[in-house]
Amino acid sequence: MLTAKTKTGKTLCLGYDYKKETLFALRKKEEFICPDCGESVVLKLGDQRIFHFAHKQGSTCRVIYENESYEHLEGKRQLFQWLIRQKVPSVLEYYDREIQQRPDILFRHNGKKYALEYQCSTLPEHVFTKRTKTYLENDYIPLWIIAASHIHPKRNETLSLSNFHYSFIRSSSTGILYIPAYCPVKHLFQLVESITPFSIKNTFAHQSYFPSDKIDLDALLEPNPVKKIQVTLSNWNTENERYILNRVLHPQSDQKMLLREMYSHGINPFLLPPEIGLPVTHSVLIQTPPIIWQMYIFLDVLANKKPNDELTIQEISSHFNKRIQRNNIKLRALPQVADIKPILPVIEYLQTLQSLGILTRKGSLVFQVQRKLILPKSNREREEIKRLFLQKNNMLLSKNK
Ligand SMILES: [Zn+2]
Repeated sequence: MLTAKTKTGKTLCLGYDYKKETLFALRKKEEFICPDCGESVVLKLGDQRIFHFAHKQGSTCRVIYENESYEHLEGKRQLFQWLIRQKVPSVLEYYDREIQQRPDILFRHNGKKYALEYQCSTLPEHVFTKRTKTYLENDYIPLWIIAASHIHPKRNETLSLSNFHYSFIRSSSTGILYIPAYCPVKHLFQLVESITPFSIKNTFAHQSYFPSDKIDLDALLEPNPVKKIQVTLSNWNTENERYILNRVLHPQSDQKMLLREMYSHGINPFLLPPEIGLPVTHSVLIQTPPIIWQMYIFLDVLANKKPNDELTIQEISSHFNKRIQRNNIKLRALPQVADIKPILPVIEYLQTLQSLGILTRKGSLVFQVQRKLILPKSNREREEIKRLFLQKNNMLLSKNK
């Protein structure tokens, strides 16, 4: 830990820059105590690790700081310094007795109270959710920042993200969803934006990097929208085909049921129309991959409609909710994003079908079918349809934004 009290009640916060000699002199004349448990703590001034306080062996303090990694100590110290350089009122390791939580940094900004948590080790999902909920219920805005070492880019602007990673997704006031990350070794902020998953764990995403002296708090809380979504339709299509192949060859039990439903509608999983499984801006709210949830929308609604038939958001929404109840479609747990409704990506999908000329809009809650989706009958036909679709719609993604 980086903060302790002296016997006379003064606070010593190592988040500020102290010279080593000053601290040596202080250590000679002062005794330090843990602000939480009141036990005495030792000021460690080694060369290997950054200066910090440590409880004595056998301590029963509830605040277990002793396993704090170098990355965590150094990261929260740098984030604290980054805030105070901007004159943001901040307290390092502030302990809120009422809720018994200690955010790494408490700060106030634009009249609001923030709890910053810099997370280097993985936390169980229920702990993450509970802490976040407690902050929200007590008028804190949580700001979870993940250690950048947890993020591993893969091929073609794709990333593999676990539920732990997804918990860090926050929303700007304008609804931009992103994961903030920080690397104390490079003094570098990293924002993962345009998160567009194509399977439960794998996603397209855009990453922006900002040296800590080039980004201020406002830019971290309200990032600019990424100008162009990085995923091209053909890359997207390739990943979707890979996913389908995998699922058909190795289906799990719920996918077996979906395959049965598809076969009973005469749909061959290898001959899908390209309009099923499209990327939409808020698809990250749904854990089930787009190709699966959009297939359910097709089976439940679109397949049964003829040109000129109407379809209402209410009708779609009721089918969507039934699929959620049956566990065919699973939503993603995003503890920091409670105010965006999961029907949003579904509406975005209908809007995409509208821009493709499949649907037209009849009113704020009503669409009308223009033409049916064409189910290819052979691989050759499918390849031809796909080629034309990609040629015609490569701009679709940027328009959809
Ligand atoms: Zn203690």
